[in-house]
Amino acid sequence: MQTRPGFLYSLLASFVAVLLAILLPVPAPAQVYAGRPKLIVIVVIDQFRGDYLNRDESKFTGRGFKLFMDQGAWFTNCYYDYANTKTAPGHATIGTGAYTDGHGIETNEWWDASRSFDFKVSSVEDERYQLVDLPAASIPANQPGAPDNAPRFVVGASPLNLRATTLGDELRLATQGRARVYGVSLKDRAAILPAGQAANGAFWIDTSSGQFITSTYYMEHLPEWAHAFNASGRIAQAEREANAEGTTQFFNLVGRTPAANRYELDFARALIDGEKLGQNGVTDLLVISLSANDIQGHQFGPDSDSEERMILSLDRDLGSFFDWLDQSIGLKNVWLALTADHGIAPVPGEASKLGVNGVAVDMEKVYDKLNEELNKRYSHGSHQDYLLPGPDLPYIVLDKRAFKKAGVDEKAAEDEVAELLPGAVASQNPNPPPFLTLMPPTVNHPSQHRLPPAPRVQYVYTRLQLANGQLPPTDWGRLLAHSYTEHGNWFVMAVLDAYQMEGSGQFAGTTHFSPWSYDRHVPLAFYGAPFRAGVYQNRVAPVDLAATLASLAGVNQPSACIGHVLTVALQPTQPSNR
Ligand SMILES: [Zn+2]
Repeated sequence: MQTRPGFLYSLLASFVAVLLAILLPVPAPAQVYAGRPKLIVIVVIDQFRGDYLNRDESKFTGRGFKLFMDQGAWFTNCYYDYANTKTAPGHATIGTGAYTDGHGIETNEWWDASRSFDFKVSSVEDERYQLVDLPAASIPANQPGAPDNAPRFVVGASPLNLRATTLGDELRLATQGRARVYGVSLKDRAAILPAGQAANGAFWIDTSSGQFITSTYYMEHLPEWAHAFNASGRIAQAEREANAEGTTQFFNLVGRTPAANRYELDFARALIDGEKLGQNGVTDLLVISLSANDIQGHQFGPDSDSEERMILSLDRDLGSFFDWLDQSIGLKNVWLALTADHGIAPVPGEASKLGVNGVAVDMEKVYDKLNEELNKRYSHGSHQDYLLPGPDLPYIVLDKRAFKKAGVDEKAAEDEVAELLPGAVASQNPNPPPFLTLMPPTVNHPSQHRLPPAPRVQYVYTRLQLANGQLPPTDWGRLLAHSYTEHGNWFVMAVLDAYQMEGSGQFAGTTHFSPWSYDRHVPLAFYGAPFRAGVYQNRVAPVDLAATLASLAGVNQPSACIGHVLTVALQPTQPSNR
């Protein structure tokens, strides 16, 4: 039973507690991370579908993928929210936190009406600059020191087409240039675009020799440490590991093997050491894009034995790279992020064996068919090419010069191509239903008891529709709007049925380009002090990577960033100790 003095004591205690609460600051939760990291490393795996980590989870060892999956924040449902899932736009998205309508990169190479109608330009080629320190045998005809049999016309590279800043750019701006920012890949576009405009450097390889090079956009000569790496015998080692000794096709023959990932990660170590990343008193950034999985994946597909070997080998190589980072800079001082630039479709033949409507469509034949029909309508006898050559879905680019000559304006031209396209694609049917032909099917399909694959256009949109926002007010419409930019051309954007893609002749590979889930699904994972370890199944997007890291680093989000900060995976912070 409570006594009266006890009650008074209790009242007094409550009064003191209230008084203290008013006068003293609220006790904060324990500090979970102190300040900003010395280094952020973003690992991008070129062509790596989100489900790969689930599929091989039980086979991972050490601190490779498991560092993210067991000790980091692993988002299992990360999907690009646009329809043009290619390498250049994907890497631009990872850096900028924006899609094509924000960063301006719609595919790997395109017809740029302001530059030339004779050839496509790549997303990063820039004739104002030159490639730096090319090996003698690779110096092209347009550069000093070219050999007599100079291989080809090659220009320098820069982020000239990137219309938005990146996380790296914002780190550079916020520190008045003290933060050091680099990109590394086998591919120029994958080194340049995620690093950004203000990057200190981007390094990729000379495709024949495998030597790392750069562009005069960044520097006049390679740094000493990069020269030393190129001269170290590391190239020969990679060639031996890939059974391609002495090759002059390093990119193709070594690039498609696990040896290429080790080669790139060793270059990244040399860069971190050589440029003293993590020792500048501010947060530095390195983006490493690992190209091997893409080079191999196009040939053998996501369900091959070689794909699994690549993944398990990369797991070990990432593990040893992270162990090295721990010894050199300390993982407590580093934030890591993991993602990919796009996923991939199964090989059409593999999908169709299960009854899924997988098929490769010969787009050259589709172009022939379209040109035939357009000539009938507009040419009056003389033959014209109404499409710019080199089909590259999802875009079909019109030759506006030919239409203008025929007195046809953009709207009429694009509407016409959009109307003709479904018929031109359907006419490529390798296995037409019996009622459409008197001939027997020309292709023996392995799942004849199920529906045979039939090439089909699901949707087609004209440039004018995309530019004017004449899109459904739905998630689908937003996805298309995110895919739009312009380079002075008339075009239509084609969406084939799911699991259908461009391919001809003996095509036995696969590709990525579409708005379908398998092309958009990528991993997203973080490791580092600010992150709450766990598996997160909420729907997120690659644009959230830059938004989250910018927020944690205390800098502005990149200029066109539309990502969300992934607060669900963040540790609570202690304001008073920031
Ligand atoms: Zn790619």
